[in-house]
Amino acid sequence: MRIILLGPPGAGKGTVSNLLKNHDGSVHISTGDILRNAVKEGTPLGQKAKEYMDRGDLVPDSLIIDMMEERLKEPDCQKGFMFDGFPRTIPQAEALGELLSKIGMKLDVVINLDIGKDVVLDRLTTRRTCSNASCQAIYNVKSMPPKQEGICDKCGSPVIQRSDETEEAILNRLETYNNQTAPLIDYYDQKGMLKSTAALSSDEVVKDILAAL
Ligand code: AMP
Repeated sequence: MRIILLGPPGAGKGTVSNLLKNHDGSVHISTGDILRNAVKEGTPLGQKAKEYMDRGDLVPDSLIIDMMEERLKEPDCQKGFMFDGFPRTIPQAEALGELLSKIGMKLDVVINLDIGKDVVLDRLTTRRTCSNASCQAIYNVKSMPPKQEGICDKCGSPVIQRSDETEEAILNRLETYNNQTAPLIDYYDQKGMLKSTAALSSDEVVKDILAAL
């Protein structure tokens, strides 16, 4: 499958991608994960991206577009992909359209995870993430805590609160989403590619996605 998962931070894009991972070999590509790895490793991209990310602002389009051009060239994308957190602006969507036509690929569908602000605020402030860059398992202190407090069930690394998941940064990320990313809903709707789902549980969202393919 070749899909874009659209939705505010905390809508469940990462969780849904994980559930779909074994479906047909499509890779889960999260720009947020790639950027966090780059920050952790201190690469030139990471050094440029860090201050934007810590504030909850978007990293400039040119950096993201170059990064995704490289990522799409990797052979694992041939089987399909689930974009999580990309595109996030109209210029990114336009660049993606050009990139895909250059390599002769077409998107199947754009899934809009339609979820209220209160739900995402609650989810994000209670979300915890495995600090191991190659694991990044997601937990929730209320609904899905790790078996041993603060320790990842999967790899044993510390489970942390992301630096951009303070209430102030979260509110900024939501505002950034409304201003810069939500316009993509209309953009893809006008192209006839959008499918919205208001499902609250990730299992139901997965069903909706599979039905839309
Ligand atoms: P996420 O994990 O998708 O919520 O992304 C975390 C942070 O990474 C965002 O708040 C942005 O600062 C940055 N980021 C991720 N994806 C993009 C993108 N497509 N365009 C610009 N910035 C991004």
